[in-house]
Amino acid sequence: MKKHNFTAGPCILAPSVIENLSNAVKDFDGQGLSLVEVSHREKAYEAVHMEALSLFKELLNIPDGYKVVFLGGGASLQFCMIPFNLMNKKSAYLETGVWASKALKEAKLFGEVVTVASSADKNFSYYPKGYSIPKDADYFHITTNNTIYGTEIHEDMDCPVTLIADMSSDIFSRPVDVKKYGMIYGGAQKNLAPAGVTFVVVREDLLGKVDRKIPTMLDYRTHIKEDSMFNTPPVFAIYAMRETLRWVKSIGGVAKMFEMNKAKANLLYNEIDRNTMFQGTAAKEDRSLMNVCFVMTDKFKEKEADFMTFAKENGMVGIKGHRSVGGFRASLYNALPIESVQALVDCMKEFEKKNA
Ligand code: PMP
Repeated sequence: MKKHNFTAGPCILAPSVIENLSNAVKDFDGQGLSLVEVSHREKAYEAVHMEALSLFKELLNIPDGYKVVFLGGGASLQFCMIPFNLMNKKSAYLETGVWASKALKEAKLFGEVVTVASSADKNFSYYPKGYSIPKDADYFHITTNNTIYGTEIHEDMDCPVTLIADMSSDIFSRPVDVKKYGMIYGGAQKNLAPAGVTFVVVREDLLGKVDRKIPTMLDYRTHIKEDSMFNTPPVFAIYAMRETLRWVKSIGGVAKMFEMNKAKANLLYNEIDRNTMFQGTAAKEDRSLMNVCFVMTDKFKEKEADFMTFAKENGMVGIKGHRSVGGFRASLYNALPIESVQALVDCMKEFEKKNA
């Protein structure tokens, strides 16, 4: 039976990416050696690495003055690297979920942190609005897509101070006006690659302004200077990212991805709103295009386990909601075909017919 992969991350990648990656693991560049057993300093790997960096810049339309770096440590390491490199005395954070809270906690190690607004009062089911950002903060940190709760900010906001965004779960899902941000970062294990590589896009003139000493490995300038080859890069994940970026380009770039993602999300949200057995958990205007969270309506609460079983029998994978929200979460990352969303919608319709 065909599997429909709605996993939240690591998650579905395009079939051509998996195919080319597995071929490279067996025989990289016709050398009779695996991608994972050759030197990262050799020409064939270097070409992959540099192409991944340049496609990243090209497809996200990154202006001059910004640098792209690939690092290890996940988005979670960035939670401390950001204040280490960019915060002198004060920073501001928007608390929109667990990941934002974790970022904020690390910043407190380096000085004063202002939480400008929080949606914790309603279990992070909406994106806060109408707050003010302190003008003397070194930066303002947001999480553009909240993977666990299915909320997303749908604009590149104007910000009076340097704007920093965790885009782990919506990078490359839509065009981004990069010049509105001082820095964009995330783990690549959603729309770009398997786990193991973290991307950072940073405006270079922001660096080198803090008073503290920064250990070499934690200093963005080290990695910029060495084209993300200061130490051994995660070659497997970077190869997969190069393949994903080629795939994105071949389909029509991020504008096309955005169009496809809107169509997929609309299909599922429309069914959630129509079906008498289900309801969405996120505020409608803040609904994420990437992670769709929904539960059974009160009347049908006791049917939750039955729907999970029914969906599983029909090939749905990874739709269990995060424990802090419950219910279901269908992640509709770039590589998920609309046919899979249709299969889930059909399942919901069928379940309603049988049970409501
Ligand atoms: N930020 C967001 C929005 C995430 O979804 C995640 C992981 N799911 C993280 C940060 C943490 O990423 P990592 O596991 O790469 O440290």
